[in-house]
This record gives sequence, C-alpha cells and structure tokens, in this order.
Amino acid sequence: MSIFASISQAPADPILGLVSRFKADPAKKKVNLSVGAYRTEEGKPWILPSVAEAEKMVVNDTTQDKEYQPIDGKPEYKRPVQELIFNGDIIDSGCIATVQALSGTGSLQCIAQFLKFMGVTKVWCPNPTWGNHPKIFQRALLECDTYPYWHQEKRGLDFDGMMAGIEKMKEGECILLHAVAHNPTGVDPTPDQWQKIVAACKARKLIPLLDNAYQGYASGELAKDGYSQQLFTQSGMEFFIAQSFAKNFGLYGERIGYIHVRCASKDAADAVLSQMKIIVRQAYSSPPQHGAAIVNKVLTTPALKEMWLKELTFMSNRIIDMRVALRKAIEAKGTPGTWNHVTDQIGMFTFTGLSKDQVMRMVEEFHIYMTGDGRISMAGLNPGNVEYVADSIDKAVR
Ligand code: PLP
Repeated sequence: MSIFASISQAPADPILGLVSRFKADPAKKKVNLSVGAYRTEEGKPWILPSVAEAEKMVVNDTTQDKEYQPIDGKPEYKRPVQELIFNGDIIDSGCIATVQALSGTGSLQCIAQFLKFMGVTKVWCPNPTWGNHPKIFQRALLECDTYPYWHQEKRGLDFDGMMAGIEKMKEGECILLHAVAHNPTGVDPTPDQWQKIVAACKARKLIPLLDNAYQGYASGELAKDGYSQQLFTQSGMEFFIAQSFAKNFGLYGERIGYIHVRCASKDAADAVLSQMKIIVRQAYSSPPQHGAAIVNKVLTTPALKEMWLKELTFMSNRIIDMRVALRKAIEAKGTPGTWNHVTDQIGMFTFTGLSKDQVMRMVEEFHIYMTGDGRISMAGLNPGNVEYVADSIDKAVR
C-alpha cells in the first residue's frame, strides 16, 4: 500500500494539456491555437535574431562565470528593465523595489506571497482572466474574487460593470489588472477609460497589481503598450508590476521576468526589497542568470535594442495581418454573427465568442485546438491554415 494511495490524479493543465493532445493527434490537417507563443508564417517557433546575437555575445564573454546570482538578480541589470516602464526621475528617486524573478508566473507567485505577508486578504481578478491567476493567489491563501470585464453581447469591455465592480472593493484590497493585451479577451480599456480606472483605484485606496506579460505585443510599441503603467506611476499610488519577458523576447523557456514595486519613499522600497528577497531565498534561493544576461545584452547594446524593437513591430504586425485575414475569410463565407471583434481585439489572442459546444466541434471534428472559453492564439495562424480555420469556424457555428 503506497503512502500516496489517497493522492488522486490531477486534471491536466487546461492549456498545456491541449498541447500534448495536439502533438498526439494523428490527423493530417490539425492546427494548434491553444498556447500563447509566437509562431512564424511557417508555424515554427522563432528565436528573435536580436536574442540569438545577444546569446552568442553572452556565451563568448569570458568574464561570465556560473556563480550564484544575487537573490534579487544583478543590480546592474535592473535599470534597463525599469526603463521599459518608468521614467528616469522615478528610477533615480529609489522608490522602486525591483527583483529578478521566474518570468511572469514566478513574479506573480512572489507578489502573492508578499501580499499575504503584508496582511492583504483579498485579490480581485477580471472575469475572465488568465486561468493561473486565481490558482496562484489561492495557493498563497488569499481570497480571490472577480469583477466584470467582458460583455458577451457587445463582445467588448464591460466598462460600466467594471467600474461598478471597483466601487464594491474595500480599502487595502488588491485589484489585478492586465497592463496591456488582456488575456483571454484581447480587449483593453481605452486611454480615457484607463484614466477613470486609475482614479477609481486611487479613490478606493486599492492596491493595484499590473500583470505585464505582453508589452510591445499589442501595438508593437513599448511606450504605447506601457500606457496603463505610466498612468499608475503618475497617480502617485503604490503598486506592483509582474513583468514577463517570455513573449516580447521569445524567451519562454528561460524564465526571465522582474517584479517592480512602486513605493511612496526610498525607505519603503528598501524595506519591501529586503522582505521580497526573503521570499525568493526561501522559494528558490536565487534566480537563473542566462535569460537575464541575454535581456541585459539586448537592452544595453544599441544596435541590438534597435533590432529587437523592429522585431517586436514585426511580430505584432504579423498577428494584426492574421486578424484581417481571418475576419475577411469568415465574412466572405457569410458566417452567421458579427466578426468585427476579430480585428478590434488586440495582442496575442482573439476571444472568438464560440460556445463550449462549438469549441468542442472545433477540436474533435476539425482538429483545431483552442481553449474551452473560445480563445484562439492568433500567433498560431498563418497564410497556410487561416482558410481552413475560417472554414471550420463557419461549419461550427451553423
Ligand atoms: N500573465 C498572463 C496574462 C499570461 O498570459 C501569461 C502567460 O501566458 C503569464 C502571465 C505568465 O507567463 P510567463 O510565466 O511565461 O512569463
């Protein structure tokens, strides 16, 4: 009798489980639109040329060793990543506590533990949100609730519902916001709506947590995609950011990201940093160095940074082109319903509005893998499969 006899089989991860099913599917015609990772026109993973170049420089750098990194990452690596979000004055003020962490998920995990440690009891997530969000907060023993975000009939943002939701939140509670390119809906507030959201968060004395997993992916421009973070910074509020470099550097497997905590004073930032380091030390001691070195090389080598910025535009443009192509192909068939949301939405995903049964048909009958909520990754579309996907959507909704 095993001591693990009472341990039941956990369900497969809803997204990564689909990837395994896709790989095992013997069908000749199959499309994987489940996972949020960039693919080329040929449907292949892409190592960004700027990243490949930086990696060579890192590997050939004889001054590099394999010693432990500091608990919070190399201090000289912090400013270039802070500069993607904050202006020089606020960085110079010392009010930002920055910690290298294990990509976006690892950053969120440490922030969740920190929230619990500082006495926060509740985190509000948009409905819907990335499936891992509530799980991460609940594992840190935080209560997790939702505020309205998606308006099914309008297939867009339920702004009034969201504002009414914020009105219900209590002082000291945490509100999770997607900094840009909301996953899974692909719908972001307008600049004007963001201003109202920031003002409401400030008035209600909430603790904002901005999940920044897609900066540069929505518009191709870092500054434009950094708008909500700029607004929160200007508001003078204290808040958290989980910054991931998985998508915008294509460094999914290197697990590189940063936590930033904007504090009211340098003293507060120093104290926050010291406690965040304890969380990291007890969880995994110190962060991996390879991805951090690559990101730093790209950001501090002007020619590579210029390359990277162009690559970001290239990736986001390819996705925008696929939005246009998919909508055109669906509308050409006279498929029932409206399809403008395919081009209105931004970032990596389209929230198609397909029902559970329709999604089931897409997967079982047409071998097009997508999440149960009707989300498709636009990065998985290419000129070779977009017609097949449009045709299958047409059949599924009729
Ligand atoms: N946050 C959101 C909204 C995401 O969509 C993802 C990945 O899909 C992440 C965070 C975490 O990504 P990673 O841990 O790979 O940086």
